[in-house]
Amino acid sequence: MAQPQNLLRPNDALLVVDVQQDFCPGGALPIARGDEVVAVLNPWIAAASKQGLPVFLSRDWHPASHPSFTANGGRWPVHCQQDTAGASFHKDLFIPEGAEVVTKGTRFDQDQNSAFDQTGLADKLHRDGVRRLWIGGLALDVCVLATVLDGRRAGFEIRVLVAGCRPVTVEGGREALTRMRKAGAVLVEE
Ligand SMILES: [Zn+2]
Repeated sequence: MAQPQNLLRPNDALLVVDVQQDFCPGGALPIARGDEVVAVLNPWIAAASKQGLPVFLSRDWHPASHPSFTANGGRWPVHCQQDTAGASFHKDLFIPEGAEVVTKGTRFDQDQNSAFDQTGLADKLHRDGVRRLWIGGLALDVCVLATVLDGRRAGFEIRVLVAGCRPVTVEGGREALTRMRKAGAVLVEE
């Protein structure tokens, strides 16, 4: 198994994508075995925090009339509504002091799958001297994919913690990994 404390280095940051109750079994938009990413990502979060590296947690945070919901012409059932239990981070996710939350999906006119989409995150990371990002979370073929591709476009080195991701569909997950690799992200498979 990968040893986070041996792999992390200065100018790295960790970005945990949308590990929220609604994306885990029992939630409103459950991803199969989505809860299993918590045990994989927690040691990375702990190691990054211990080494003083920035830890970012993104979250889907939708208004009731969000355009991604089927009732509004979107693709998904109602999920991650602002201030609901389902929108909270998984109860076992380790959230260290100083972790920063990246809120997305609040717009009335469009969805934001990527943690970089109109959040200002890329600017902040550049400002803070971050050059390489370790990324894991949910779902591999939707928000993690969009985040990894945007991160590459913004000029960051990317390491994808594959064991710390789960896809909506197996096929979608395979395609996502191919697209990430083509975009220059490095897949950490163990
Ligand atoms: Zn959403």
